[in-house]
Amino acid sequence: INYFGSVVVGCMWTCKLSLFISLCNVLFFSPQYGIVLDAGSSRTTVYVYEWPAEKENDTGVVSQIFKCSVKGPGISSYENNPGALAKPFGDCLNKVKERIPVHLHKNTSAYLGATAGMRLLRLQNETAANEVLASIQNYFRAQPFEFRGAQIITGPEEGLYGWITANYLTGKTVHPQKRTTMGALDLGGASTQISFIPEDFQDNPNSTLQVKLYGYEYNVYTHSFQCYGRDEAEKRSLALLLQVTSSNVDNPCYPQNYETAFTMKYFCGSLCTQSLRPANYYPNQLVKFHGTGDPGLCQEMVSLLFNFTACRDRRECPFNGIHQPKVKGNFVAFSGFYYTINALNLSGHFSLADFNSSMWFFCSQKLSVLTEIQGFGALFNKKHFLSYCFSANFIYYLLVHGYKFDAETWPQIHFQKEVGNSSIAWSLGYMLSLTNMIPAESKLIQLPLKP
Ligand code: AMP
Repeated sequence: INYFGSVVVGCMWTCKLSLFISLCNVLFFSPQYGIVLDAGSSRTTVYVYEWPAEKENDTGVVSQIFKCSVKGPGISSYENNPGALAKPFGDCLNKVKERIPVHLHKNTSAYLGATAGMRLLRLQNETAANEVLASIQNYFRAQPFEFRGAQIITGPEEGLYGWITANYLTGKTVHPQKRTTMGALDLGGASTQISFIPEDFQDNPNSTLQVKLYGYEYNVYTHSFQCYGRDEAEKRSLALLLQVTSSNVDNPCYPQNYETAFTMKYFCGSLCTQSLRPANYYPNQLVKFHGTGDPGLCQEMVSLLFNFTACRDRRECPFNGIHQPKVKGNFVAFSGFYYTINALNLSGHFSLADFNSSMWFFCSQKLSVLTEIQGFGALFNKKHFLSYCFSANFIYYLLVHGYKFDAETWPQIHFQKEVGNSSIAWSLGYMLSLTNMIPAESKLIQLPLKP
């Protein structure tokens, strides 16, 4: 009996031990997940991130395992019908549920961050913006994840999170002693952000955010230009063109002989184009646009979107009277910057002369020639395709006349959309910051900031 008893007790202990080990594995060693919904002006993108739980504070361990674009427009477009915005989330969220083990759903945090589309809606109609956010909260209450709220992030936050992502993914925060960080250039639909470490941050105290990552303090200059996102800028250009011709409008940025029509509300309805509305503004009236494929005129038209008169010293002021220190070091340009560069058949970094000649070539071609060019088959999305000439000119003007990149500094810009399988987007920096996954203090030996 004694022998039998000790076998039973031994078995019980072994069982308990293995149960304990499996519990530890689940709690401490199985991967952890985080979900970020990037509610942009033109669409919502869902990202799922994964990292080993026991290493969550180490550098570079978080990677993106899934990305999904929610069908339909951005959440700000639901201002008149917020109840309808949840349904399109379903498809992406179902796929997310398949990617994350069921037993971890309730421990997985989900964050929704809304950007310039919602910032603009809040300025135009705060009640509608709140209703849109409330509808999202309501939807997530019925989801199995730990929803940490829907927030409208500020422009500087968007810039800073993009900068954190770029440096986290490119490993610049891994070797802080070298202190060579990457600047970040983000082109969204309604706003654009520039963020970098300037030579002397004390010149720009109001536009500098201080972050401490792994024991190092960084003073990041960041600015977000509202209404200088790709889509809003193009709408402003259409509204400007309508001011010079009243009905059939020639558009030098569209391919030759291409014809299209938009309602006035489409391009004059937003806060960014309010001041450009014609006196006879009828929201539902159609306006025809006729492409002339003229790169010189397209660039001239794009230049009208930038106001340089407000700058006392043009060397230190990109446009609209905003002070900016001289650009310094390497930059990564993602999102709208990347899509356009890719459409011009360019990638990575290249000279300003190469960019100009590709842009000139693209803008002078007939639509039939452009669509025949090899490689455009897979990329072809009519809406984006017709706008690439405008986008290329806008990027040129923003980077060269706005931020003051020149032939020498232009090759320091790397046009890139991802590192490995992780997208370069503010969403990763947002999650890392909200979950405190980049500790302020470092396990590494700290060097003094200024030797
Ligand atoms: P997002 O990456 O969704 O923030 O989009 C940023 C900007 O790029 C917006 O103006 C979009 O309209 C535009 N965009 C999104 N996807 C593409 C694409 N495949 N080609 C060109 N532009 C795009």
